[in-house]
Amino acid sequence: PAALTLAAARPASGRPAAAGDGPLLECRGVTKRFGGLQALAGVDLQVRRGEILALVGPNGSGKSTLINMISGHFPLSSGSIELDGERISLLEPHEVARKGVARTYQIPRLFEHLSVFENVRLCAVFGGEGDQPLEDPDALARHWLAFTGLADKAQQLPAALNLHERKFVEFARALAARPKLLLLDEVLCGLTPSEVDQAVDLIRKIRAGGTTIVFVEHVMRAVVALADRVAVLDQGRLLALGAPQETMRMPEVVDVYLGVAHAA
Ligand code: ADP
Ligand code: MG
Repeated sequence: PAALTLAAARPASGRPAAAGDGPLLECRGVTKRFGGLQALAGVDLQVRRGEILALVGPNGSGKSTLINMISGHFPLSSGSIELDGERISLLEPHEVARKGVARTYQIPRLFEHLSVFENVRLCAVFGGEGDQPLEDPDALARHWLAFTGLADKAQQLPAALNLHERKFVEFARALAARPKLLLLDEVLCGLTPSEVDQAVDLIRKIRAGGTTIVFVEHVMRAVVALADRVAVLDQGRLLALGAPQETMRMPEVVDVYLGVAHAA
């Protein structure tokens, strides 16, 4: 029956799946060595179109390293990463960005001598996909500042902002590049509970616009609230992958979650 087929085509969250497409991101055997240290040891991971995938694990388990490899900031020791079926793992960060990957950093990296508006506008200018002509970068910057609730901060310098606002400027900047895939590395870290709620709402709103999201997080209530699936990393290996409640019940994962909860 038609109703059944339709239900089957939708992910758990109720969003329509893109018809007949493979995963948006595919990591195969992703390995990273820093000298003698193996930070990632052959991670295989697919990220589905439109999903929110959380990366959790203790400090040093390789979460940021995986983000850095997807965004092109670290070269892989071995393995490959594909976006939309196209290999991105040999590209430079700016080339990966042009393919549709945007990110935020654990510690916001803003241009301190430029206004909030200019910070976002710059990414609207350089964020065009391929060689497509851009919409008006000023209008884009205004749009994403309003979207992130920062319209009244547009003319401020980053130094005048608190951490929560700085993190939201990073969101606006990343969104101005209109990414297919948004990578968030501990965006909630250091925020108050009500700021966490605002950020969770913002992340939901971003996903509703069709952007696929991978986020590294220690705030477990946000992981449960947001994630369609959780990937648990431990010592550079993928220990578990599944729905939040499901992975949390797995005996081999409980210690990792407890470790994360203590670290948070
Ligand atoms: P997580 O984000 O899960 O806390 P990281 O990915 O930052 O962990 O780090 C994984 C391991 O790789 C850690 O042992 C860390 O010390 C090491 N590492 C990360 N980045 C570098 C680097 N640039 N040089 C050397 N070692 C690094
Ligand atoms: Mg990290």
